[in-house]
Amino acid sequence: MSTIVAPPAPAAASAAPPPPAPTKAAVESLRSTSPIDGALLGEVPVHGAAEVGAAVARARTASASWAAKSFAERATELVRWRRAIADHVEELAQLVHRENGKTVLEATSEIFMALSHLDHAASRAEKALAPERVSGGLLANFRCTVSYHPLGVIGVIGPWNYPVFTPMGSIAYALAAGNAVVFKPSELTPLIGVKLVELAAASFSVPDLLQIVTGAGPTGAALCKAGVDKLAFTGSTATGKRVMAACAETLTPVLMELGGKDPMIVADDADLAKAVDGAVFGALANTGQACISIERCYVAEPVYDRFVEMVVAEVRKLRVGGDDAHLGAMTSPAQVEIVRAHLEDAQRRGAKILTGGADAIVGNFIQPTVVVDVTDDMLLIKDETFGPVLPIIKVASVEDALRRANGTRFGLGSAIFGRHARELADRIVAGMTSVNSVLAFSAIASLPFGGVGDSGFGRIHGDHGLREFTRTKATAEERLALPMNLMSFKLPGNMATRLAGTVKTLYGSGPVARAKDLFGRLRRG
Ligand code: NAD
Repeated sequence: MSTIVAPPAPAAASAAPPPPAPTKAAVESLRSTSPIDGALLGEVPVHGAAEVGAAVARARTASASWAAKSFAERATELVRWRRAIADHVEELAQLVHRENGKTVLEATSEIFMALSHLDHAASRAEKALAPERVSGGLLANFRCTVSYHPLGVIGVIGPWNYPVFTPMGSIAYALAAGNAVVFKPSELTPLIGVKLVELAAASFSVPDLLQIVTGAGPTGAALCKAGVDKLAFTGSTATGKRVMAACAETLTPVLMELGGKDPMIVADDADLAKAVDGAVFGALANTGQACISIERCYVAEPVYDRFVEMVVAEVRKLRVGGDDAHLGAMTSPAQVEIVRAHLEDAQRRGAKILTGGADAIVGNFIQPTVVVDVTDDMLLIKDETFGPVLPIIKVASVEDALRRANGTRFGLGSAIFGRHARELADRIVAGMTSVNSVLAFSAIASLPFGGVGDSGFGRIHGDHGLREFTRTKATAEERLALPMNLMSFKLPGNMATRLAGTVKTLYGSGPVARAKDLFGRLRRG
């Protein structure tokens, strides 16, 4: 297969989406090169505010036709897109491998997971977004409904680390909920975005339903200001803050999927072989460039030495680069420098590198690295490393591990191994926890995904992910007119006194309220 991927030609719009019409502002172009060998893979235009605005305007038209379709009609078209991607899986995986640097296996597995989400969103939307009847409470003469409606146009800004899976977590759910999408992929992986959108355009009956705008930060910034109904951002915490600030000007709601510093806890009664396997994969899969990578591993003292020894033995078996590699290239040279800085800082502060290390970095390839004697003041513990590095920390007890796991500003994923792991899992302050496993939650389409603290807010995936791209509507319909209507000025003169009596009866400390409270307690069990 050629290493040169043709740049997306506007004229190739047989079925492909017309990229926003080039204007004077879009004369610049963005060259995409492979992090593996520097080969030029293709070029895309740099879209400015005018092109981004035009794309959002076209999406607005598309959103009306798309929202008018039934869930079943939308599902049929989303399944057509799913099939188109699956039918091109090898080609797309090669492109992901070349443009992002990950191994072909990792690229294929990423596409597999992305399609499981697309499939789930398409089939689940009707149930998850069905109107719900709720009780009218005291206003029992009302029929009350909560319903979910498309927002309109969703802007999706994506990162480079999972260029198919990550944006799909927003795009699939936004489309299934009845919205149109304008997608800005990372400037490091634009061609993958172009390919996904080409396949979508050939699958959807509504033109411009999913469009792409390409460029770096300024193109993303333009999308924040282009009048979208919601902006779904996935990227670093620092950029997330800038995106939020820009969106605040127009009160554009945001979904923030940001960085992580995920902890893993190993109790002394854990299945050690399983925990070792989990730590090695959780920290090093995708060359450690996952927002949910295990970045800190807290191990109970009695099993610590054995755990470290087993991890190092496993890590030394891993191959970096080449056809049979476990770990691919780092996507971004800037990220390589962050990893180097974290390792050098740790060593300066007394950490010990057991395998790999800053000295073993060659170009965009980093040998998987295991670090011990790590302390909380090191960058390796405080900041997101986003590389193939596993710091292992000895802890006196699981309590100590929990305290330290919760000791950063981040709260995205986490993992815990041990016989009582499930009971302890809820004490980790994070959006997701895998119990006796790692990363599993991201592949389970029915589970919501998202963080707390510096890891962001809002949820993609699952029913929560579908509702995230809707506006919630409350409807109260009077079914029976009562003699006394509290929603009217036409009330008896002594109404305040009567109402005060009702307040005391229902909510005070008298027998009726007490009986009601007792009944409530019994019902709750
Ligand atoms: P990044 O923040 O550098 O860039 C993300 C996107 O934002 C890119 O498309 C970029 O062009 C765009 N951007 C940059 N400046 C902008 C601005 N001012 N306004 C609007 N858009 C702007 O992140 P990255 O380096 O591409 O990705 C790595 C980060 O993403 C890591 O921190 C990782 O943890 C995080 N991530 C989070 C999740 C999650 O679901 N929580 C998933 C994947 C990656």
